Amino acid sequence: MTVANRMNNLGTETAFEVLAKARALEAQGRNIVHLEIGEPDFDTPGHIVDAAIKALRDGYTHYGPSAGLPELRQSIANNVSNTRGIEMSPDRVVVTPGAKPIMFYTILALAQEGDEVLYPNPSFPIYESMIRFCGAKPVPVRLLEDEGYHLDLEDFASKISDKTKLVILNSPQNPAGCVTSRAETEAIGRLLQERDDVFVLSDEIYKDIIYHGEHFSISQIPHMEDRTIILDGFSKSYAMTGWRLGYGTFPLQLVDHIAKLSTNSVSCAASFSQRAAIQALEGSQQPVKDMVSEFRARRDLIVQGLREIPGISCPEPEGAFYVFPSIKETGISSRDFQEGALNEAGVASLAGTAFGEYGDGYIRLSYANSQENIKEALERLADFVEKRSN
Ligand code: PLP
Repeated sequence: MTVANRMNNLGTETAFEVLAKARALEAQGRNIVHLEIGEPDFDTPGHIVDAAIKALRDGYTHYGPSAGLPELRQSIANNVSNTRGIEMSPDRVVVTPGAKPIMFYTILALAQEGDEVLYPNPSFPIYESMIRFCGAKPVPVRLLEDEGYHLDLEDFASKISDKTKLVILNSPQNPAGCVTSRAETEAIGRLLQERDDVFVLSDEIYKDIIYHGEHFSISQIPHMEDRTIILDGFSKSYAMTGWRLGYGTFPLQLVDHIAKLSTNSVSCAASFSQRAAIQALEGSQQPVKDMVSEFRARRDLIVQGLREIPGISCPEPEGAFYVFPSIKETGISSRDFQEGALNEAGVASLAGTAFGEYGDGYIRLSYANSQENIKEALERLADFVEKRSN
């Protein structure tokens, strides 16, 4: 079979591949601790589930508008205005099944052959995949391990060119857990000040999961507001990964194009999920706070445990629910670590290279798992590294 050439440019998200391998081992009776997949292990808060059930009974079982239900777009606009201190209107909001389509649609709508897209590396693998798929050139910007994996602003400045069309930012960051400070974001804003032809896709999906510092969106810088696309959603903040619900806020001129991409691909997000999402935004935020406080305890546990394993060093993440330790001193390659930890030690992790070329020498562990399982994983990993060093 011959597939279209463009398929050769499509990357993937290794987390789903490792998850499948881990499940196959479990089917053979092996016990696996899952630290590979990026989803909260908590259940969706009850009041949100109740709202979905009510919506189903009330008949929200049909197609809705491609850009999202008007009442949810209004609720999102209010939330974005409150959380970022900017004025957001509902007609700039597009709701999608999960936040991932916001990446796809934005890059499809803005970047083409001859254009360059700057993105952090290592980072969420779908950025690079989509940039390549859309025919544009991915231009990786390094993170600095010694500085808690913050973006290398010198590298960033040196890579802006006449061809730059789009810049992707992500804070709190996957996979390294860095939270970009206000000062850093303002420095990025200054570098883009004269370039009003450059758009920014600001992936803020982990904005509610922060342990140090505070969320500052580049859209809060006045000259950036009109050319920032905020990507956000319900998957991480409200443990709603399986509901598939996310959104983007766009410059007004882009909204019709993005809604058309939605009409052409998915038609709309599920109507009852959207009704429940209003409850997520407008109901009690206590479950979010409880979840973040549990994530903080797990972060402390995993960072401390990893630092006790010879050859592993681990900066403390400031947000999200991942650690990105360096394994360079163990002498094990990232890929070998991913395979060996799974097959020999029963711990599912991801090679840093799954997040880009600069991820070599690192692994990513998601601590969206119980403290008990994290302790078990740490023991298994310590044994695995020790055996490999003998
Ligand atoms: N952005 C980042 C940085 C992510 O890590 C993820 C999911 O892992 C997403 C976006 C996509 O989220 P969703 O499940 O809502 O599509």
